Amino acid sequence: MAPDLTKQVLTNTAETVLARRYYMKDAEGNPVETWETLCHRVANAIADVDKDSPNGENLREDFFNMIYRMDFLPNSPCLMNAGTDLGQLSACFVLPVEDSMDGIFTAIRNGALVHKTGGGTGYSFSRLRSKNASVRSTQGVASGPLSFAAVFDAATETIKQGGKRRGANMGVLRVDHPDIMDFITAKQDQNRFNNFNFSVAITDAFMKAVEDGTEYDLIEPSSKQVVRSLEAREVFEKIIDLAWHNGEPGVLFIDTANKANMTPQLGEFEATNPCGEQWLLPYESCNLGSINLANFVEKGKIDYDRLKTIVESATAFLDNVIDCNRFPIPEIEKMTLQTRKIGMGIMGLHDMLIQLGVPYGSEEGRETAGEVMRFIRDVAAAQSEKVAAVKGPFPAYDAKVNTYPARRNAALTSIQPTGTVSMIADCASGCEPYFSIVMVKNVMDGDRLIMVNKHFERIARAEGFYSDELMSKVADSGTVIGHKEIPAKWQEVFRTAQDIRPEDHIAMQGALQNNGVDSSISKTINLPNSASREEVKLSYITGYQLGCKGLTVYRDGSRDSQVLNTKDTS
Ligand code: ADP
Repeated sequence: MAPDLTKQVLTNTAETVLARRYYMKDAEGNPVETWETLCHRVANAIADVDKDSPNGENLREDFFNMIYRMDFLPNSPCLMNAGTDLGQLSACFVLPVEDSMDGIFTAIRNGALVHKTGGGTGYSFSRLRSKNASVRSTQGVASGPLSFAAVFDAATETIKQGGKRRGANMGVLRVDHPDIMDFITAKQDQNRFNNFNFSVAITDAFMKAVEDGTEYDLIEPSSKQVVRSLEAREVFEKIIDLAWHNGEPGVLFIDTANKANMTPQLGEFEATNPCGEQWLLPYESCNLGSINLANFVEKGKIDYDRLKTIVESATAFLDNVIDCNRFPIPEIEKMTLQTRKIGMGIMGLHDMLIQLGVPYGSEEGRETAGEVMRFIRDVAAAQSEKVAAVKGPFPAYDAKVNTYPARRNAALTSIQPTGTVSMIADCASGCEPYFSIVMVKNVMDGDRLIMVNKHFERIARAEGFYSDELMSKVADSGTVIGHKEIPAKWQEVFRTAQDIRPEDHIAMQGALQNNGVDSSISKTINLPNSASREEVKLSYITGYQLGCKGLTVYRDGSRDSQVLNTKDTS
């Protein structure tokens, strides 16, 4: 529903999160901002880019309104740092790791500078020579990507990002790197690499070898020589076994991503940001923002007119962010200004579907999600082309190579986890379904505090099936399914992450990826605790066949805590 324009009411959780990490503080550490003044700070800083244009004042107001009402929220670094001395506004960075001492420690230094400002970094270790390969200058042998990754991990641990966000890294290794088996098994020890998500970059050649049951070649990066071959199915089974055990490593489909590289003239994708939604070239950064779909249902229908207006403003906003961003190092500034990528995503997809009465895991759910995502992308593209006509296309745009129309931003859409901003907006995160409908908190003297999903409570009360007793039963069983007091329709609509079949999670990711997501999607494919390794394998193969650019599976209860838990990334 469209929010009240006069006064924005924040939930207690939102107030707590904002006060702890987003509001500016005085010397004693007390917050000196409110949601309203924060929104003015952010809107003014970003609108200032256009202060001399005739439209400048309107932009200031549009930006303020869309953030204040939470129709659109930029990523955390923008909310925290816009209009402050720090001024670093992006969430995502990919840094190259060159195969030399200088290259490795330059990357660690650059990563530290990024973390300090609240950004997350992705690294590919694929260029590093393998363990025991020779080192000419010292006539010794190399220690290999994993031993260096441990140094990156230790550096991140030490910095802790000034208390606002702890560091987050993605570590990527190509499946054809000679050290791949060490990489796949590295996080079996849950005490190591805790500041990293690890993902294997899977190639088309590897997937073909899996299909055919053949071997595939391992290539030494320093010499480009084939050094060995491995049975593709054995490697695949190992990845699956470990992902089944504790959700890591993830997989990234690197060739699929590179086929959609909008600026191949500048190089190839090697890695993504920490949560996987943004493929970037070495030294690129990207600022993200999410449209809150929960706010766009009116009288049981999607309000496309209002959605169009907000997406236009949000596209202009994210493009302006690039111009007032303070980049942590000059190389990042140079690359980012060449391609001017933005990452417009969504949150509250499940809230929107619930308001429409459509189950998340249904064909209709996927069609609706795909239609909305396609609409957002088309509006963003039209807006980006419009801005290009005034301010010029992104500088790397080359009409001879790039067959799409000239536009301001080389990439427009991606779907981020919105781990924190969805808590501020009080909606389901990113494109994920709700995790639970009734949550229980044990308070003193054995009393239970029961928190009910706001949509469920509203509907259950309106239709007369709400009772404390029923909520208690739903809390105990962990699902709305099978309670005869709840009408069958609402049992379907309120299926949560664990109730939705894994194949429906993947199909939703595929529907979004193929309908207007330029970059990638952060999404978890939830599997029940009883799921077999075969089911994990099927998920990977289906995701690949559907054209997903990466996949994360999580078997219920297989890990005590996650490195980057999508619910709280602090
Ligand atoms: P938010 O909701 O705080 O804006 P998201 O959960 O959507 O952020 O994450 C978006 C991206 O921000 C991630 O993919 C990652 O690149 C970066 N990020 C998230 N959490 C952290 C963190 N703790 N430290 C550094 N970067 C992070």
